[in-house]
Amino acid sequence: MVDITAARLFLLDMDGTFYLGDTLLPGALEFLALCRRTGRRFAFLTNNSSRGKADYVARLRGFGADVGEDDIFTSADATLLYLAENHFSRDLLLIGTPSLERQFTESGYVVHAKEPRAVVLGFDTTLTYEKLCALCNAVRAGLPYIATHPDLNCPVAGGFIPDIGAVIAFVEASTGRRPDAVIGKPNGYIARAAAAKYGVPLDALCMVGDRLYTDIALGACGCGTALVLCGETTRADLAGSGIRPDVVCENLAELAALL
Ligand SMILES: [Mg+2]
Repeated sequence: MVDITAARLFLLDMDGTFYLGDTLLPGALEFLALCRRTGRRFAFLTNNSSRGKADYVARLRGFGADVGEDDIFTSADATLLYLAENHFSRDLLLIGTPSLERQFTESGYVVHAKEPRAVVLGFDTTLTYEKLCALCNAVRAGLPYIATHPDLNCPVAGGFIPDIGAVIAFVEASTGRRPDAVIGKPNGYIARAAAAKYGVPLDALCMVGDRLYTDIALGACGCGTALVLCGETTRADLAGSGIRPDVVCENLAELAALL
């Protein structure tokens, strides 16, 4: 178990942790204020690679949170670090939204290279059949194949939309291949990448989230975890799961009270 009261960096999930749909959850803004007052760092961590940081900043500011792009860390950021650390070619086939393409282009990658040396799959809400064919062809040809995160569905108002995991399953049905690496939560790589970016050791980092198999499963890499029960997980889900958070709270207000 990690003592989360000693954490220097809190990585906050957004939907189900900070807000739920269009509603700010109890203690959300107070939690940020407490971090600032006590010299702790916070950052919002999301697996969703379909939106750019500016979108998240606008959404969070709309809730009254005083945050900037440096306070957002996405699976796309971690994927870019992964590609750099592993000396990937700059010539990619990137399947993603215009904002993801922009982020990769600004980082020096060619996102639709004539002769791609690797495939990167993001959560592409602009996906077309043509893109799916190009993706399957590149994967079938044996290129290194990286996905930004594993989520099967993405929560939206009134239900879910298919997320990248559903596309990974489609590609596997067509080609027989799974990605060589899937970067986002629960892969500890994203926690290590965030720890490196914000300059704290991994055991001084605490992931706060509402989902057991992504947010809390991240604890396997050695970081602390705090489960909030204001999102998708119930106490019954927790009791039936083998995944154990370091701390369980109703919401960020209760977590703040522990710190
Ligand atoms: Mg969540």
